[in-house]
Amino acid sequence: MTTNNGAVVDNDLNSVTAGLPGPVLIQDVHLVEKLAHFNRERIPERVVHAKGAGAGGYFEVTKDVSKWTKAKFLSKVGKRTEVFVRFSTVGGEKGSADAERDPRGFAVKFYTEDGNYDLVGNNTPVFFIRDPLKFPDFIHTQKRKPGSNLKDADMFWDFLSLTPESIHQVSILFSDRGTPRTYRNMNGYGSHTYKWYNDAGEHFYVKYHFKTDQGVDNFTMEEAEVMKGKDPDSATRDLYDAIARGDPPSWTLQVQIMTPEEAEEYRFDPFDVTKVWPHGDYPVMDIGRMVLDRNPSNYFAEVEQAAFSPSNFVPGIAASPDKMLQGRLFAYPDAHRYRLGANYTQLPVNAPKAAKMDNYQRDGPMRFDGNLGDGPNYWPNSFGGPEPVPGSGEPMFNVYGKAGRQPYVHPNDDYVQAGDLYRKAMKDQDRTNLVKNIVAHLGNARKDIQIRQVKIFLKADEEYGSRVAEGLGLSAADLA
Ligand code: NDP
Repeated sequence: MTTNNGAVVDNDLNSVTAGLPGPVLIQDVHLVEKLAHFNRERIPERVVHAKGAGAGGYFEVTKDVSKWTKAKFLSKVGKRTEVFVRFSTVGGEKGSADAERDPRGFAVKFYTEDGNYDLVGNNTPVFFIRDPLKFPDFIHTQKRKPGSNLKDADMFWDFLSLTPESIHQVSILFSDRGTPRTYRNMNGYGSHTYKWYNDAGEHFYVKYHFKTDQGVDNFTMEEAEVMKGKDPDSATRDLYDAIARGDPPSWTLQVQIMTPEEAEEYRFDPFDVTKVWPHGDYPVMDIGRMVLDRNPSNYFAEVEQAAFSPSNFVPGIAASPDKMLQGRLFAYPDAHRYRLGANYTQLPVNAPKAAKMDNYQRDGPMRFDGNLGDGPNYWPNSFGGPEPVPGSGEPMFNVYGKAGRQPYVHPNDDYVQAGDLYRKAMKDQDRTNLVKNIVAHLGNARKDIQIRQVKIFLKADEEYGSRVAEGLGLSAADLA
C-alpha cells in the first residue's frame, strides 16, 4: 500500500496521535489525504439519465450500406467495431429503482477508425417534445416539487396536458414498454432522424432501430411495483449477470432510409422527433448486429465517466435539422465539460481507440496525456502540425426560410400516430394495460388537469380517451 505520491504506508489502522489518547497530529499526511480524497469521491450526478449500467462489446456489419454512407465502420459486411453501451433510466436519481416507469436511455459509442461515433437514443422511437427550448421545463416536471421535494402528479400531467405533442410518447411510456423487464429485453432507437452521405457527396436521411434479439419483454405495473422494492437494481443486475455467465445479449441494427426529395414531400415532418416513419412507408432493413460480451472491470471508470454525445459524428454521418437533435448537439458535451471537465475526452472510456486525436487544443484542468508535447499549438503553422483534410467533411447543403421563433405548422398531426399506436400496433391486452397504467397515475392529479389530458387522449382515439375517462370516473359533462 502506498500514499497517492507512491510512498509506502506503514500502518493504515491507527492515526498518528500525540500520546495514547490523542489528539491527532496534522502531520499524519496519510490520514489527511485519505479523508480529503474521500470528501471528493462524488462527481456531479447527471441531471438526466443518472442511474445507469454499461457493458462493452462489438458491432458487426451484415449489409453493405456504402451507397448511402461513407462511414468506414459500416463499409464492409463482416467488419467489426468495438462498442461501449450505457443503458439508463431518465428521471430518477442515481439510487433510484431500475423498474420505474420511465423511458430508458440506450447510448452506444462506436470506437471507429474515423473517430468515435455515438448514437445516443432511447428505448422509444419518439420523444415528448420537439423543441429543445422546452427541455428543462419538461424535465423539471418529472423531478421533484420545489417545496415538498416529492414527485408530483400535478406537475407531471399539467405540463403534458399543456403540451399535446407529447401524446405519442406518453402513450408509449404508459404502455408496458414504459417498464421493460430488463435492459436486454428492450429495443433501442436513434429516435432522431440523422443524415448519411456517401463518397459521391449525395445525402440521405436515416432512422436507426436496435431490435433486441432477446425479445421485447415488459413488467406489468404490478410486477414493476414489486420489483422496485425487491431489487432496485434489477436491470443492472440482470445485464451484469447475463454477461458474467456467458450469455451475451445482442441487438439487430435496422435502418430506414429516406431521400432528400422524399423528405420534402413526406406526409409527416421527417425531422419531428415526436413522429416515427411508419414501417409501411419506409420498411426497416437489417444492417448489423451488436453483441455485449464484456462487463466493465470498474463501474466508476467506465460507466460513471462514460460521456456520450450525439455530436460525436464521423465522416459519412451528420445531423439532420431535427430541432431536438440540434439542441442536444450543444447540451451533451456541455454537460460532460461540467461533470467531468474540459479534458473529458481523454478519459480512457471516452478517448478514441481506433483513431488518434490530434489538434491544437491544449492545457485545461486535468490534462493527463502529454498535452501533445512540443508540437506547434496554432494553425496554420510551418512545423509539421496536424492538417485538416479537405473534402472529408459534410457536403454543403441548402437552408432556406426566415430566421425567427417559428411555431409548429401541423398541430393536428400530433394525434395521428398515437392513435395508430393504440389502434394498430397494440393488442387488446396492451390497450387494457395502457389505460390501467394511465388511470393509476393520472388519477393522482387535480381534476381539471385530468380533464385537459383526457381531451388529448380523445383526440388520439375516441375509444382510448373514453376508456381513460371512464377509469377516472369523469362524466360526459366533465368533458363537455
Ligand atoms: P407497424 O404495424 O408497421 O409497426 C408497429 C410497430 O409498433 C411494431 O413494429 C413495434 O415496433 C411497435 N409496437 C408494437 N407494440 C407496441 C407497443 N405496445 N408499444 C409501443 N410500440 C409497439 O406500424 P407503423 O410503422 O405504421 O407504426 C404504427 C405505430 O407503431 C406508430 O404510430 C408508433 O406509435 C408505433 N411504432 C412505430 C415504429 C416505427 O418506426 N414505425 C417503431 C415503434 C413503434 P418495434 O418493431 O420497433 O418493436
